[in-house]
Amino acid sequence: MLNFVSIPVTFFSENCTVIYASDTRTAAICDPGGDSMRIRDKITELNVTPERIILTHGHLDHIGAVAELKDFYSIPVYGPHEDDLFLINAIEKQSHMLRLPAAPSFTPDKFASDRDILNIAGEEFLVLHCPGHTPGHVVYYATKSKFCLTGDVIFQQSIGRTDFPRGNYDDLINSIKKNILSLPDDTILIPGHGPYTMISEEKLHNPYISE
Ligand SMILES: [Zn+2]
Ligand SMILES: [Zn+2]
Repeated sequence: MLNFVSIPVTFFSENCTVIYASDTRTAAICDPGGDSMRIRDKITELNVTPERIILTHGHLDHIGAVAELKDFYSIPVYGPHEDDLFLINAIEKQSHMLRLPAAPSFTPDKFASDRDILNIAGEEFLVLHCPGHTPGHVVYYATKSKFCLTGDVIFQQSIGRTDFPRGNYDDLINSIKKNILSLPDDTILIPGHGPYTMISEEKLHNPYISE
């Protein structure tokens, strides 16, 4: 069975989410935005072995601890989509803009492509390209356990901002309609910030996507 636990990190309370199998204790770390020691402590406490880091997009509050954890665990980094490379390359600039501690740079081992299938902790994840908040944003859908790591695409009763460089509101709404709302109604959404929610809840209460 697949489990997940989120650790709010950085000043922006970004949900770094550890996904792990309860039997094999293998794990993946999604969006380690900062506070690498807190993430490491949680991983020790859970008694799991991280096998890779997966990233939804290139904003610093989602990638600030990538280089440290990649080195510490000697694990590869998957994602985001190549269109977010300009953000990863601007990691220093982002730390000035967001007033977050400077983070070492890194290069993803593999960029994400739409409809990639990943095996994470023994379960199949479908990768969906969801541009709008950033051009290279992707989400990760666990096809059997039915939860989705949605980064900054959609939040409980809200959606991602589109006023950052290369953000696009129409793209974001299209991505949500095409790739998020088409998932089963009982899919749990694990957003990049704030509480978990469910597709059915957002269809009812999210003012940005009412039809
Ligand atoms: Zn973001
Ligand atoms: Zn964010």
